[in-house]
Amino acid sequence: MLDEEGSLTVHVGAGTTIMNLNSGVEDENGQARFFGADVVTDNDVLGWKNVTLPEQAIDPGIERIAGNGRWTLTAPVAMRFGLLAQKETDALFLEATGFNRRLNLDLVARRGARSRTGARSAAISATHLLVQKAALVLDVAPDEFDALEPRLRGDSPMLQIADTLINGSGLCRRLGEVGRDGRPEIARLVDEVVGDRGQWPLRDFLDERHVTRCSTSCYACVRQYQNRRYHPLLDWRLAISYLRGMIDPRYACSLDGNFDVYRELRVWLERASLHE
Ligand SMILES: [Zn+2]
Repeated sequence: MLDEEGSLTVHVGAGTTIMNLNSGVEDENGQARFFGADVVTDNDVLGWKNVTLPEQAIDPGIERIAGNGRWTLTAPVAMRFGLLAQKETDALFLEATGFNRRLNLDLVARRGARSRTGARSAAISATHLLVQKAALVLDVAPDEFDALEPRLRGDSPMLQIADTLINGSGLCRRLGEVGRDGRPEIARLVDEVVGDRGQWPLRDFLDERHVTRCSTSCYACVRQYQNRRYHPLLDWRLAISYLRGMIDPRYACSLDGNFDVYRELRVWLERASLHE
């Protein structure tokens, strides 16, 4: 299903295959090293005589092959591989199709020329904020959703959310349903997140005590135990700004010099000059 509203396009993927790839530790250039294994023959299979097992993959880091009578090395580090976890479930994709191109919302690729940590962390923050908003509205726990990392679809950045349950729990499908106003529920939630000061999150985030105390993120805003892996990247100001950029092609994120219209940008100049 696809629904287009302004510069935001919502896709609902029923029965989508979600893949998580672990390519091993990255080197200093951000390139994946992948995992490595020696290919060996096992000469001692449960003590059975004359029984050998060829083509066994052994991690060279944990098993001493040289001088060990059990193994005959046939190909040193002959395997380079990643680990893949795959599941089928329902997912929701929010694609920004008509955003202000000066904002570089599209630099969200995992690596390469279209990848910037700032843009990726803004998009990741936006995804986690949306998951929490959706969980609040649907009265479920945030971990019922899988906040997937953003990616590019052609030239357009795309936020991705999936149901945690295999085969879907109906939550993403529900968020993609078109309401009385002819728009998907998730599009209405994005509007509420960036524009409704009477509702969570703006009601709480813009509380003066929070604004002064929280420079990036805290447990009173986008941090939760479940998203602890992302805590260093999460930033509530970036999250709101990124979502605003996705839905409003005129939004310039203060490139026009105006820092007063949107509350999340008001202290930005001050903070940036502090860190000069
Ligand atoms: Zn906070």
